[in-house]
Amino acid sequence: MPFVDLKAQYQALRADLLQAVANALDSMQLFLGPNVRALEEEFAAYCGTKYAVAVGSGTSALHLALRAVGVEPGDEVITVANTFVATAGAIIQAGARPVFIDIDPGTHLLDLDQVDQAISQRTRAIIPVHLFGRMVDMKSLMALAKARNLSVIEDACQAHGARRGGKLAGAWGQAGCFSFYLSKNLGAYGEMGMVTSDDAEVRDAVRRLRDHGSSSKYQHQVFGFNERPDEIQAAMVRVKLRHLDEWNDARELAAGRYREALQSLPSVRLLDDAADGQHVHHLFVVELESQRDAVRSYLSEKGIETGIHYPVPIHLQPAWRTFGGSDVALPRTERAASRILSLPIYPELSLGQLSLVVEALDAATRSTAAPAQR
Ligand SMILES: *Cc1c(COP(=O)(O)O)cnc(C)c1O
Repeated sequence: MPFVDLKAQYQALRADLLQAVANALDSMQLFLGPNVRALEEEFAAYCGTKYAVAVGSGTSALHLALRAVGVEPGDEVITVANTFVATAGAIIQAGARPVFIDIDPGTHLLDLDQVDQAISQRTRAIIPVHLFGRMVDMKSLMALAKARNLSVIEDACQAHGARRGGKLAGAWGQAGCFSFYLSKNLGAYGEMGMVTSDDAEVRDAVRRLRDHGSSSKYQHQVFGFNERPDEIQAAMVRVKLRHLDEWNDARELAAGRYREALQSLPSVRLLDDAADGQHVHHLFVVELESQRDAVRSYLSEKGIETGIHYPVPIHLQPAWRTFGGSDVALPRTERAASRILSLPIYPELSLGQLSLVVEALDAATRSTAAPAQR
């Protein structure tokens, strides 16, 4: 059983996708054209924001959003270390320095109580990461950021359609950043990302920065980047956006079944779910009390692919030595990294497949020592 099944979704939409590509090619308007503009409007409407600006990737969405809200070289940006490396990479690209804080051990999301003590004179922004499709408590975070005059840029790259406190991911901060990498809840068949915002200045700044700092041809107000989205990807994402809610519903159903089936397994701990949240289960992650790697091998022998998101927190990566240098201690983040296991989840995952995963996990953990000695 694969960890994700991208072919199933492609097969179901194949005719529509190919037609959209053919139409885009026939028009021969391949960059910043009608599909990009339409997708920007449709995605903003979906998220409940005034604007959305498409860019080259989720990483560039974060990078350009940081610059658009005024983050400058030497500034500090608070975020977490248990995320895809791009969250921190984008901060480095903007010339700023990531300051990592620890996580809430129940949810694995940023611990709001740690934000205050991480703030210094140079802190300009916070990037909350809606990890695994599970939203940070944005109401509280926005109040905290407002009181300390900090910008908030949501990393919603795993949270298309997630909702908490009455608003969607990407609709809370000065900017929301999305990835359409192919395995995300809403994925292109190449690279693309999106910045959402209610602020026309952020919108205009991201538009300039994605196209060499230009707002009209060969007029460059600033030096920017080449992060232009392409029409072929936009055309395909538009086809898929119409299905996002039904896919998220299918993920929710699968996640609910996992939770029900796994709560009786003594050595499997489920992550805490916020009661006021509607998560979109980009990943379904559990914590194992012990023997995570042995359990993972056992599942693999049974033909069940799993993942670890992420095995090495960013502050322990070799790349970090060059930047932070300091001895950051994030004990909860490190502890989580040694215990997490991501189970297969995707909209097309069948009840039968899900039962197989649960049974195999039960067998693997029941005799914790067994996987090694079988
Ligand atoms: C995927 C992802 C990114 C980067 O998106 P790309 O489109 O791959 O550049 C950033 N942050 C998180 C949390 C992600 O999952």
